[in-house]
Amino acid sequence: MASNSNYLEPAPIHDKGNPFDSMMSRFDVAAQLLGLDEATYNVLKSPNKQVIVSLPVTMDDGNVRVFEGYRVIHSNILGPAKGGIRFDMDVNIDEVKALAAWMTWKCAVVDIPYGGAKGGITCNPRAMSAGEIERLMRAYTMSMMDVFGPDKDIPAPDMGTGPREMAWLMDEYSKAHGMTINAVVTGKPLVLGGSLGRVEATGRGVMVSTFAAMEKLKINPYQASCAVQGFGNVGSLSARLLHERGVKIVAISDISGAYYNPEGIDIPAAIAYRDGNKGTLAGFTAAEKIDGEELLFLPVDVLIPAAKEDVITEANAHKIQARLIVEGANGPTSASADKILAEKEIMAVPDILANAGGVTVSYFEWVQNRLGYKWGLDRVQRRSDRIMKDSFERVYQAAAKYNTTLRIGAYIVAIEKVAQTYHFRGGY
Ligand code: GLU
Repeated sequence: MASNSNYLEPAPIHDKGNPFDSMMSRFDVAAQLLGLDEATYNVLKSPNKQVIVSLPVTMDDGNVRVFEGYRVIHSNILGPAKGGIRFDMDVNIDEVKALAAWMTWKCAVVDIPYGGAKGGITCNPRAMSAGEIERLMRAYTMSMMDVFGPDKDIPAPDMGTGPREMAWLMDEYSKAHGMTINAVVTGKPLVLGGSLGRVEATGRGVMVSTFAAMEKLKINPYQASCAVQGFGNVGSLSARLLHERGVKIVAISDISGAYYNPEGIDIPAAIAYRDGNKGTLAGFTAAEKIDGEELLFLPVDVLIPAAKEDVITEANAHKIQARLIVEGANGPTSASADKILAEKEIMAVPDILANAGGVTVSYFEWVQNRLGYKWGLDRVQRRSDRIMKDSFERVYQAAAKYNTTLRIGAYIVAIEKVAQTYHFRGGY
C-alpha cells in the first residue's frame, strides 16, 4: 500500500480553485481527530473508478460536436454508488471527483445505504435545444451502460439537469436491457416512477436544517432575515419554504445579478416572475439590483449559498455578517475560509448535511421503485424531515464531543461510519 507518512500531520490547506483539495483538507482534519489508521485513510481518500468518455452528438445545424462526459465512483463501501449528473461549462474531472466524494460523506451523514458518485458533461444546456440535450443524454447513458445499474450506480439530477433528462436516461437504459428498469435513476418525472416530494426535497432539507440551527442559536424565525444565493431548484425552493414559515427573505440572486429588499421579497411572486422570464430574474423590479457577490455580505441573520462551489473564500469570508450559513450548494465554502468563519463564530451547517434532503428522497424513490409501490407525500416528508433532524443532532453532538465545527463534525460522523463498514467488509 502506498505510504502517506505525514497523514497525521496538520493538514496543509491547498484549495486554490480545486474542490477536491478543498474536500481533502476537511477529510484530513476529521481523520486526525478520529485517529484514523493509515490504511483506511488511503482507501477512503481514493476514488474507486473514474470514467471519461467522448460523446459525439449531431447538433441541429447538422454539425457533429464532441462533448466530454465523466462519471466518478468515489466509494461503494456502504452500498451502490449514488449521485447526480451535472451539465455545466465548468465541469471537469477534479470537480466531479470532489462532488463524488461529497456524495459518499453525504449518504453516510444521513445514514442511507449508498456509496458516492457523481457525473457530468462539459456543456452549456442553456445554449442547446431540447433535441440536442436529449441526444447528448442518451449518448452519455449508452457510454455508461456498464457503469450504471440499480444495484451498482444510481444517477440523479444535479445542476443543469432535471426530471426530463432522468426520463431519457431511464428510457435509454431500459431499452438496452429490454425491460423497464426505473430504479436505475432517481429524480424522474412522477409518471415514470418519480417520488412525490423529490423536486422540493433538497430545499425542504435546507429549510429543516436552518430551523434546527436557528433553534441552537436562539434565533427567532419570525424575526430572522435571510439572503439566498442562487435561484435554481435548491435556492428558490429553500427560499419559498422558509418564506412560508415566516423567515424574511431579503435578497435572492441568479446569473443575472442579486436583488435586495430589506422589507422582504415576495418569493412566490419572484418564482412566478422567473418562470415567465425564460428562467432568469433579469429585470426583476420588486427589489434593488445589487452586485451578485454583495449578497454574501448583507446584514442578515442567515445566509444560504445555493449556487456553486468556492463562493465563500479566504478573500471574502471576513466580510460576512450573517450568524448562520446553511449550505444549499455543494462546496460553497473553500477550506481556507473555514477558520475565518470559526473565528467570527459564524455557524456553518455544511453541505454534506444541509443539502442531503435531496439524496434522502432519492433513496425513498429507489425504495418505492423496488417495492413497486407508491408512498403518499405525507410519508415522504415525515420520514425525510426526521432523517434531517436526527442527522443534524448527530452532527451537532459529534462537533461538541470533538470540540470542533459542524463541518468537521459531519465529516467525523461520515468517515467513522464508512471506516467501520470497511473494516467489516475488508479488502484484499
Ligand atoms: N445532486 C444531488 C446532490 O448533490 C442529489 C443526488 C441524488 O439524489 O442522488 O445531493
